[in-house]
Amino acid sequence: MQKYYICPECRGHLKVGEYIIFTVSNQKDESGLVLLHPQLGNYESIKHPTFNYKKGEILDFHCPLCSVSLVSQYDKNLVRVVMMDKDKKEYDIYFSRIAGEMSTYKVAEDSSVMQTGEHSHRYTYFKIPEEVRKYLHKA
Ligand SMILES: [Zn+2]
Repeated sequence: MQKYYICPECRGHLKVGEYIIFTVSNQKDESGLVLLHPQLGNYESIKHPTFNYKKGEILDFHCPLCSVSLVSQYDKNLVRVVMMDKDKKEYDIYFSRIAGEMSTYKVAEDSSVMQTGEHSHRYTYFKIPEEVRKYLHKA
C-alpha cells in the first residue's frame, strides 16, 4: 500500500523511492543523510559509511528540504513526521531519535495509538487517556 511521509513544517515529501530521507546530525556535530525504512517497526537504515554514531547517541533529525528540526515538542527524545495513506488520511508518526532505541508510535486524528518496537514501553504517556493527552499535545 502506498504511503507518503511528509515534513510537518514544509509539507515536502520525505519518502523517495523505497526510503524516508532525513538530514541527521550526531553529537560531534557531523551531518549525514540517513534513509529509514517506511514500514513501522522496521529499523533498517542506510547511511554513508563516513557518517557514524554510537548506540545510545541522541541524533538530531532535520527535514532535508526546509531544514526544520523534526524533534517533537511533545517529547525531546522523539522525532515527528506526518504519514499520509492512500486515502489522504493523516497520522502523526513519532519515533525515538536515540540510536538503537526501537520505539515507534502512529497516532491517528482520533488520538488512537498504534505502537511498535521493543522499547516502545518507555514512552508510556502514549497510553494515557485521550482527554489528558490533548492538553499535552503541543506539536
Ligand atoms: Zn520540511
